[in-house]
Amino acid sequence: MAIGQSSSPDQSAVENLVIVGSGPAGYTAAIYAARANLHPLLITGFERGGIPGGQLMTTTHVENFPGFPDGVLGPDLMDLMKAQAKRWGTHLLEVDADAIDLSERPFRVEADGQSIQTHALVIATGASANRLRLPSEDQFWSLGISACAICDGATPQFRNEELAVVGGGDSACEEAVYLTKYGSHVHLIVRSDKLRASAAMADRVLANPSITVHWTSEIVDVQGKAWLESLELRNRTSDKRDILPVKGLFYAIGHTPNTELLQGQLELDAKGYLLTEPGRPETTTEGVFAAGDVADFEWRQGITAAGSGCKAALAAERWLSHHNLAQRIQRDSVEPDKAEVPKNVETTTEETYRPNAPWQRGSYALRRLYHDSSKPLLVIYTSPTCGPCHVLKPQLQRVINELNGDAQAVVIDIEADQEIAEQAGVNGTPTVQLFHHKEMVQQWRGVKQRSVFKAAIEALMVPA
Ligand code: NDP
Repeated sequence: MAIGQSSSPDQSAVENLVIVGSGPAGYTAAIYAARANLHPLLITGFERGGIPGGQLMTTTHVENFPGFPDGVLGPDLMDLMKAQAKRWGTHLLEVDADAIDLSERPFRVEADGQSIQTHALVIATGASANRLRLPSEDQFWSLGISACAICDGATPQFRNEELAVVGGGDSACEEAVYLTKYGSHVHLIVRSDKLRASAAMADRVLANPSITVHWTSEIVDVQGKAWLESLELRNRTSDKRDILPVKGLFYAIGHTPNTELLQGQLELDAKGYLLTEPGRPETTTEGVFAAGDVADFEWRQGITAAGSGCKAALAAERWLSHHNLAQRIQRDSVEPDKAEVPKNVETTTEETYRPNAPWQRGSYALRRLYHDSSKPLLVIYTSPTCGPCHVLKPQLQRVINELNGDAQAVVIDIEADQEIAEQAGVNGTPTVQLFHHKEMVQQWRGVKQRSVFKAAIEALMVPA
């Protein structure tokens, strides 16, 4: 098969390798497989098990990923990995995988109404950090609440402030000790009267004067304004309530691996993680490889996930070659074009404003379009560190492009245009509002499928 780098193979054909999941494990597997000319198909996932890009999309500064001496924002790091995977010829399907069938070869993956056949699979679906589901949790997620002290502990807002960790296992203890480096004091909130952590770890916590353990305690809710300021604690035995003035709350209450599509098909451990040969990517079914947190209950770092993605792709390549199944593409040129990394559109000014431009940015464009435009208008509220916004914006850009100028969009950065966000009642990102003839028709919070927005806009375009 001699095809150019940008063309995809005959879709009726069997894929060499399908990678499911788009965290560091999935993208690294894709980079290696693509560079081996295997033209991998990567199903990014969309809503199932988190958002595309994985857990790093919901963190702010990543300062422990080698190669970024000054740190990198989690979503930016994932944008770079995605761009690198695409540059080498990974074919992306930005949807959820709905079903995986390993009962016969080639394997079958159902996604977006398509049935995809593949010789080999890398499962990189990750694990979702468990959440407490507090009433105000969403409001303060990444604004004081985090599921990873190791990733987020050094955030400036936490410096010399009181912090809290919830959980009683090794992670909670390790994170509590770790956070004493940054916070003025750490509260460890444990729901029972004992720590589940190993004795050595528990001893370190109990001996540390900078940590107070709150036994048999649970968090009722959190409070704050733009950033977390306190939490309400309830003693489960006495029902006594306390307010802790903390600027950070770290969840360490375990993870749930995203293996539901593989139940009954691959061997899982008691907690649902994929079983592999120790230190190796092979699962219990030949041709199916695991990478990242889906098979790792212990290390769970971006860099360890990336490393395991590399191993999985190399193992898949060897396996495909060994079984004579690898159909390699031939590249038109040895050196692919430079990677396309998403860039923010410049803020629209009086000089650059165009009444019919489909996609503009900032309060000036919003004010003008709100008054002047007769087309459906999407107002997209984002913030610089909002990972889900990175996912949503390209999707909305596609919707607007597909509508060929019949609808317009404005992006508002809520940090730069705080007043507008406040007037619009926006207290989280991403928020999308759809206007028509100066009326707000609909509002969405969080990431939604492209089709949802398109249908809502098209409904407004139907002639009366
Ligand atoms: P664990 O499952 O071991 O512990 C989870 C903790 O969270 C438990 O204390 C549990 O309480 C608590 N918890 C669960 N749900 C809630 C809830 N809704 N509200 C309050 N508390 C809750 O997970 P870990 O991430 O700590 O550890 C996972 C594995 O990784 C373990 O095997 C651990 O040993 C290992 N690990 C090892 C490390 C090391 O050796 N350095 C570091 C980190 C992890 P309860 O105890 O009451 O069930």
